[in-house]
Amino acid sequence: MKILVVGAGIAGSGVAYMLAHDGHDVRIIDSVDKPHSGGYQILFDTVALRVMRQIGALGIVTDLSTPTATVTVARGQKELFRIPMSGYRSARRGDLVGAISQYAARRVPTTFGQELTGIQHTREGVNAHFADGSTESFDLIIGADGLNSTVRRLAVEIDRSYLYENGRHNLWVNVPGRIAGTTEAAILLGGGLGAQVFPYTDRDQTLVLTSFNLGPGRFAGAELLPRAAELLRTAGPKFAPFIEHVENASPDSIRTTRFAQIRAPHWHARNIVLIGDAAHCIDPLSGAGAHGGLVGGAIFAEELRRTPADVAGAATRYRRRLRPFVRAAQLLTAGVLERATARGLREKLSADRSLLGSALSVRRADVPRRSYATANPAQPIEGERSTPWI
Ligand SMILES: Cc1cc2nc3c(=O)[nH]c(=O)nc-3n(C[C@H](O)[C@H](O)[C@H](O)COP(=O)(O)OP(=O)(O)OC[C@H]3O[C@@H](n4cnc5c(N)ncnc54)[C@H](O)[C@@H]3O)c2cc1C
Repeated sequence: MKILVVGAGIAGSGVAYMLAHDGHDVRIIDSVDKPHSGGYQILFDTVALRVMRQIGALGIVTDLSTPTATVTVARGQKELFRIPMSGYRSARRGDLVGAISQYAARRVPTTFGQELTGIQHTREGVNAHFADGSTESFDLIIGADGLNSTVRRLAVEIDRSYLYENGRHNLWVNVPGRIAGTTEAAILLGGGLGAQVFPYTDRDQTLVLTSFNLGPGRFAGAELLPRAAELLRTAGPKFAPFIEHVENASPDSIRTTRFAQIRAPHWHARNIVLIGDAAHCIDPLSGAGAHGGLVGGAIFAEELRRTPADVAGAATRYRRRLRPFVRAAQLLTAGVLERATARGLREKLSADRSLLGSALSVRRADVPRRSYATANPAQPIEGERSTPWI
């Protein structure tokens, strides 16, 4: 089968590698000119690591990451509880995505600087149109093009958007130093805000990721800095060294994002299938995006092996298998954030509904066991454990 994978992120690189291993004629394109690098922090749970091991790329993740420290959750100076993170690894997202895409490119022809702009179903398959004006036919297009997926917009969002927003905005600031010089991580709550304070592993630096309940509209990161600094101030002396750096962060060193999830009822349309954030973005706050993208790719590849002549059937079964995890993760992530930043009883009740929905939809991980690696012997994964809700 001739397959185009749109997007050389974690999800696209993973599924392309697996499908090429299964004998398909696969190509990857990405609109960025060169592999990603730098960026903010990403977490890998043991299920995501297991899939990386299956494609022979576990070494890449372990080289670029370190074990994640236990996370302390606190309100003001009062410690509420601790979340053990054994088995998790954290890395700088861009560096890791870049390395994984380069690993996939060893097996799958990959073109950077090529943007998909249009799709057209044909009797035999599907035509892809590119920004440079060229067109090519494929049997299957996989949209692994992230949160703002062009493939999703063209194939499944014909008359409406499946973007879920809740008025929460995230402010990302990298500051020098670490909590009391250690690799400790913390989640701080208070004043209607929540902040994740996570140390980086490759240098003496910490990510302060603060979530605000601001409603609709756009906000300049600079106007939010004083409130983020205030939350740190109430959290006690351990966080004092970060306050000044947050207050004085330069506008070009900060980033604001809106909390966003994709809650689409379909992840495919004829010979077009969505994988990763394009299908079901959970939001970076979840720490579950790499898991969803990699496991989703592995499940789809497995289902396509079962019925190679029936893409729609394979895509339907893939969604049915992954959806319980996605639903639980989306409701939990949205519910925790909405509860921590709720204004008034109505918002609290709505957050509680999400948390209840998440608890009711908890399922065990469904991860195919196939190995796609030929040369790499199985590498052990420290403390096999996965995201808390599965
Ligand atoms: C800042 C940030 C921090 C995150 N932190 C975490 C974390 O801690 N833990 C975690 O598990 N997940 C995290 N995530 C989410 C995680 O990175 C993703 O869920 C996961 O990597 C899967 O992404 P993806 O491959 O589906 O999409 P992406 O990584 O978004 O990749 C999509 C690719 O498609 C390309 N593309 C887009 N449109 C086109 C087009 N029209 N034509 C060609 N190419 C196109 C883009 O250039 C991009 O390279 C984070 C995400 C972000 C943005």
